[in-house]
Amino acid sequence: MKAQMLSEQLSIDRRPLKLVEVDEPSIGQKDLLIKVKACGVCHTDLHIVEGDIPLHKRPIVPGHQIVGVVEKVGEAVTRFSPGDRVGVPWLNWACGRCEYCQRGYENLCVNGKFTGWDVDGGYAEYQVTSEDFTYHIPDGYSDLQAAPLLCAGVVGYRALKLAKADNAERVGLYGFGASAHIAIQVLRYWGTRVFVFTRSREHQKLALELGAEWAGTANDDPGVLMQSSIIYAPAGDIIPQALGVLDKGGVLSLAGIYMTPIPQLDYELLRGEKVIVNVTNATRQDAIELLDLAPRVPIRTEIEVYPLEEANDVLLRLKESKINGSAVLQIS
Ligand SMILES: [Zn+2]
Ligand SMILES: [Zn+2]
Repeated sequence: MKAQMLSEQLSIDRRPLKLVEVDEPSIGQKDLLIKVKACGVCHTDLHIVEGDIPLHKRPIVPGHQIVGVVEKVGEAVTRFSPGDRVGVPWLNWACGRCEYCQRGYENLCVNGKFTGWDVDGGYAEYQVTSEDFTYHIPDGYSDLQAAPLLCAGVVGYRALKLAKADNAERVGLYGFGASAHIAIQVLRYWGTRVFVFTRSREHQKLALELGAEWAGTANDDPGVLMQSSIIYAPAGDIIPQALGVLDKGGVLSLAGIYMTPIPQLDYELLRGEKVIVNVTNATRQDAIELLDLAPRVPIRTEIEVYPLEEANDVLLRLKESKINGSAVLQIS
């Protein structure tokens, strides 16, 4: 099968991914062999490829927003059959036994495995994942449109939950990329007033089209205080500004997997029992809830489609903030 393989972490302009021909992967008893149809491109892929995150496996096939069709099932598989349309997100496996799994934080599992980092991912014609960490894709979505739901959607949704946005009347979103453009649709479905902070005029326009009450930059005054805010941008210097317009009792969740250093904070910015919480990965429950919610909202994903051969080019465009919504690789 064809796969985009990473052997050496390099700046993306040096084209570190190589398109190679490798053996089709074999499956264990609980595994599904998935014929990949589409794989969403995520910022985490860029961090893995460029070396912001250390490699866990070498070489590795990136990609963790996989939509495909089950081709073969292991002997012990009970929930899926060949022909089923399925999705695979970032959390590829959790042990179920460690302290974190037992406390409901399988996203923090000490033995956790992640798609496209510990396990070969979806920038390839086939991928293998246990049925326990695979999901049915809701009807009404093409393979390409469903792909961004699996990370941009799922992690973005966990960020909303951790920010207690489901309980807020006014929510601020900082950065308006793949996750935020899905999150805003969920918020509008909940009837929440949404305020979007982004430097990009293009993104401000899209935010208003998707129902934001206000769009501006983090330096602009939205006129009201937020009860809940989520920073999707990897920019630590936004945190003091976001706290400045966060109401008493408000929660600020930080959803970037990576963030530039946070400047020194004046304690006054936290007064009024404000909470800052980081989002790390997502649980199976997050994925189940988001995939259940998606067709009811209904969430529409904004996508740019590229062939597998252009994976390096897409990641470069992502790095340069040239993607509107989400980039998706069309595999077969
Ligand atoms: Zn565990
Ligand atoms: Zn991701």
